[in-house]
Parts: sequence; C-alpha cells; structure tokens
Amino acid sequence: MKETGDSKDQQLTVALRIRPLSEMEKEESASIVAHKVDNQMVVLMDPMEDPDDILRANRSREKSYLFDVAFDYTATQEDVYRSTTKGLIEGLISGYNATVFAYGPTGCGKTYTMLGTDREPGIYVQTLNDLFKAIEETSDDMQYSVSMSYLEIYNEMIRDLLNPSAEFLDLREDSKGVIQVAGITEVSTINAKEIMQLLMKGNKQRTQEPTAANQTSSRSHAVLQVAVRQQSRCRDILQEVRFGRLFMIDLAGSERASQTQNRGQRLKEGAHINRSLLALGNCINALSEKGGHKYVNYRDSKLTRLLKDSLGGNSRTVMIAHISPASTAFEESRNTLAYADRAK
Ligand code: ADP
Ligand code: MG
Repeated sequence: MKETGDSKDQQLTVALRIRPLSEMEKEESASIVAHKVDNQMVVLMDPMEDPDDILRANRSREKSYLFDVAFDYTATQEDVYRSTTKGLIEGLISGYNATVFAYGPTGCGKTYTMLGTDREPGIYVQTLNDLFKAIEETSDDMQYSVSMSYLEIYNEMIRDLLNPSAEFLDLREDSKGVIQVAGITEVSTINAKEIMQLLMKGNKQRTQEPTAANQTSSRSHAVLQVAVRQQSRCRDILQEVRFGRLFMIDLAGSERASQTQNRGQRLKEGAHINRSLLALGNCINALSEKGGHKYVNYRDSKLTRLLKDSLGGNSRTVMIAHISPASTAFEESRNTLAYADRAK
C-alpha cells in the first residue's frame, strides 16, 4: 500500500452520483434538493419542513453527507470511471480481486453508470478497454487471458445473461476454494464494440416487471465478472501464477418493499432484494470497521456468497450510490445517503 492517503489506495471507496433532473421531474415542477458542495460533500434539503420551525429551533434545513468522491450532473461517464474504477486495473492484473457496485433506487442512474449507452459507454466497457490496453503494455513474458461472464441474480436464483435459455446456475467452490458459477458462459473477446453489443443484449434479458412503484423497475442484480489469468511458461508448460477477478454489479433498485403496493409475488421479490442488499450492507459495514473483531457472514445471500473472495481481505470495494436531485425523491435520497454513509 502506498502512503498517499488517496481514495484509490483505500480498501473501501464510497462515491455518490447525483443524476440530472429528468423530464418527468421537470413536468412535475420538482425543485432540486440535492446538491454537490465540493468533491466530497453533498447536501440534502428537506422540502417539507416548515421554515419557521427550523428558524425557531435554530436548525439547518440541510443535512450534509461525506463521500470519498461526489459527482453531479456535470460529471461525464469518463470522470466517474476514472475516479472510481480505473485504479483497480493494476491490481486486477497482479492477481487482486475487486468489486464495484452501483447502488440506489430505480431510475437514479445505476445502469447508466455501469452499462451506459452506445455513445456514452459506462464503467463496464471503459474498464474492459483499459484492461486490454494495460495487458498489451505489460512488458513481462507472462501470458494473460481475460474472460468475462454476465449473470443475473433474481429471487436468489442465478441466470446466465449470455445464455438466458439455460437452467438456473449454482455456485460451487473449485479445487482451489474459489467460488465459481457452474456452467456459466465465459467469453474472451477483445473488441470493445462486440463487448458492448453482448452486454446490451444481455441487459435486455434482465428480469424487468412493471410494479406500482415504477414501470421499468429492475428487480434483479446484474453481475459482470471479469477474470484475468496470468500464466508463466516454464519448459513449455503453462503454469497459472495469478488469478484476479473484478465484479461490476448493477444492483436491484433499493426502494423498499413497503412502497410497492403489490402483494404476493412482488412482495416476496422485494423481501429477497432487501435480503441481498441487507446482507451486502452488513458485509460492507463489517469490512469498514477498524480492528480485528469483524465477523462477515457471506452465507446470508447468493450475492454475498458469490463475492466471498472479492470483499475484504486484499480486495478492494467501490460503492457508487445514486440519487435523483428532485424534491419528489427526497425520502429515497435520504435513505440512500444514509445507507451509503453508514457503509463508509
Ligand atoms: P436505474 O438503473 O438506477 O434504474 P437508469 O440508469 O436506467 O436508472 O436511469 C434512468 C434514466 O435516467 C435513464 O433514461 C438514464 O439514461 C437517465 N440518466 C441516469 N443518469 C444519468 C446521467 N448521469 N446523465 C444523463 N442521464 C442519466
Ligand atoms: Mg437499471
């Protein structure tokens, strides 16, 4: 570890991204209540509080939250990638694991940050591009191979997004104790355009069901797994020397099950999602605690089991929390800021 104190050297980095006001929010005449103050501080203003009450109690109407890095509508996809994920590539090539999460309520920009669009590619494609470049530039005589897979965790079941007609997949530990998804499609490709097409197509396979809370509410976690194998050639025999994995995860919407006005199926899904997010939050909390007595229970959900080797230890974790700036999203933004703040 370097001693610069830079966020890129920390085990856990928490970022916050505030998306622009949407057309719908503008139509609803929503005001902006979440602001970025500087590169680390965000304030949220309660739009419902009576200004007189606040004056009497001599309180501030605003609450501030601190992050390792904060972005607002002025941030480009590249800005977000550079300050959160780019720094993980060096470690990945050297055999270290890492995880990047997009967290937040539905509609706040998680998929935009991770997948992005053809013209504004997100973290997935920018990372893969830089990874291939970095491998090309390494001057050692190691042999590197990169493979990627893309899966969905929905209702605590794993689906292969690159082969959606396949059966649900199981988690297994391989002979080295590394958690693997048995039978998942692994692609090794070096063409950025091809990767984007694969991911876009895979993303369309994600389970999306309309709910009362949001028409295109995403109820699944999408996981892009990138593995780098490094082998050395010794008397013409290839030997694996290092294996590093990067998980990039577009989490399901964090809105609460109680806000979905559905019963039965949807409510059960909500409970599952909350279970995964809760388990994840607990793991991250445990990791962010200083000192020896951390107990991390990875077995609580599929998501945390999959990430067992990539959270904690020598691994680095980046959480990018997302909020809307709008007054109409105040409650959700406050919940999200509190979750991300607690994770820190
Ligand atoms: P989520 O995945 O969290 O449900 P999306 O990524 O689908 O949310 O974003 C919802 C909408 O807002 C999309 O139309 C997306 O293109 C747009 N959007 C989100 N973040 C940004 C941003 N930073 N800049 C411009 N548009 C954004
Ligand atoms: Mg999404």
